[in-house]
Amino acid sequence: MSDYIDCHYARTRADQTQRPFLDGTIATGTAVIGGGLAGLTIALELARAGHSVVLLEGRRIGWGASGRNGGFCAPGYAVGYDRIAQMAGEETARELMGLSQDGVEYVANNLAAFGMKVDPKRRGHISARRIPARGALERYRDKMATLSFNMRVQSVEETRAQLKSPLYFESIVEPTTFAMQPLDYALAMAREIERRGGKVFENSPALSTGRFGTSHLVATPRGRVSAHHLVICTGGYTGRFMPALRRAMLPIATYAMASECNPALLDAAIATSLCISDDRRAGDYYRRTSDGRVIWGGRITARTRDPADLAELLRRDMIEVYPQLVGLTIECAWSGLMAYARHYMPQVGRLGEGVWYCTAFGGHGLNTTAATGCLIAAAIAEGDDRYRLFAPFGLTWNGGPLGPVAAQLTYWKLQLQDWWAERNVDQKKVGTAPKDVQPSSTT
Ligand SMILES: Cc1cc2nc3c(=O)[nH]c(=O)nc-3n(C[C@H](O)[C@H](O)[C@H](O)COP(=O)(O)OP(=O)(O)OC[C@H]3O[C@@H](n4cnc5c(N)ncnc54)[C@H](O)[C@@H]3O)c2cc1C
Repeated sequence: MSDYIDCHYARTRADQTQRPFLDGTIATGTAVIGGGLAGLTIALELARAGHSVVLLEGRRIGWGASGRNGGFCAPGYAVGYDRIAQMAGEETARELMGLSQDGVEYVANNLAAFGMKVDPKRRGHISARRIPARGALERYRDKMATLSFNMRVQSVEETRAQLKSPLYFESIVEPTTFAMQPLDYALAMAREIERRGGKVFENSPALSTGRFGTSHLVATPRGRVSAHHLVICTGGYTGRFMPALRRAMLPIATYAMASECNPALLDAAIATSLCISDDRRAGDYYRRTSDGRVIWGGRITARTRDPADLAELLRRDMIEVYPQLVGLTIECAWSGLMAYARHYMPQVGRLGEGVWYCTAFGGHGLNTTAATGCLIAAAIAEGDDRYRLFAPFGLTWNGGPLGPVAAQLTYWKLQLQDWWAERNVDQKKVGTAPKDVQPSSTT
């Protein structure tokens, strides 16, 4: 039997429920494969609409990226507006940006309904420049205003009053982002699905799928599900049982760590309870928790094995920004896999009659799993076809064995560009525009 990896959220989770594995045969309207936030949202929305649903999770609810991320629920996608507009056209891109904002509010509403209301004073995301902006942030703010994003620019002085590091210059604040304990949220969703009559099984990996007449069959080690609809939401952990999806995404690892509880020391460095990230192409993101810790995330790699000194690697990134935190003890560090498509956008659609997929959220999954999960549930329950908004971002081939090599080289190139831009900060007297119109992304 599988259990959670050792991470801050598993250590502090409020709910210790262990769910049964599927034993025997069960018939249902929809079988959802994967108990991350994508699968949970779809199952919950179907249960809310009165449909019968069975969710199969190969390990534990929220065991994957959904239960071990940075916890930033922010509008936007893993790629910025300009790139989305290039791929899908301005009109669709605008709709998609609105949808990403709806995703944030959907999660906030669910949290309130589950008794975990977001504190309005903790809402907001500061994106801080590591090179002087010189007017670029005002231009960015004005462009985002045309997309209904209401952002505020902060001067170097204002930024450094909150983030006490000489490495930061100006910053821009997006006001709707909030931080959450993502594993607690996932577990609350599972409870709500069950309360509404849905069935949730852990340690029940889908091994194969097939057809019997008009039904879809899913085999697990000890059971079988027969369903009218099948939805695949296996993210960066998608295995070979669904080759069409596995071929279309790259599993990319990223890291996070949690410190000891030491609010006095943290006050000397991070004097804000908002979410924070920098504007690097391959940047850091972090936040203070309400119980006095910092959760710090960063780095991405195509190598899926953890480095032995993971905590020390992230601690060094933190100390580079805040040398005053040198005495802060790190309690645990962990990694997780994100699914990335080559176009960086979620993959949402239909593989065949009654077979759906909802995956590849990259480093921006908390709002996008919500938004797209609602679309897929509406497609199944009501025949709603808004999921087609994602049609421009198809199941493009991941590059086979060369895919991870290309991804790693791209990351190194981005790191080098960051290093070069920052190295020249003092000499460089002109600001550059932000990398893309992207309100906030963790990676
Ligand atoms: C360290 C880290 C930090 C991040 N920080 C942020 C952040 O701050 N904000 C943000 O928006 N996003 C963040 N992300 C990204 C975000 O967590 C993901 O995009 C999102 O959680 C993906 O959800 P998912 O449901 O698609 O996949 P997952 O949560 O990975 O769920 C997939 C599930 O499918 C299960 N599964 C796989 N195969 C099978 C099978 N055959 N049968 C049954 N079950 C199966 C797995 O066990 C897994 O539980 C971060 C990710 C990581 C790893």
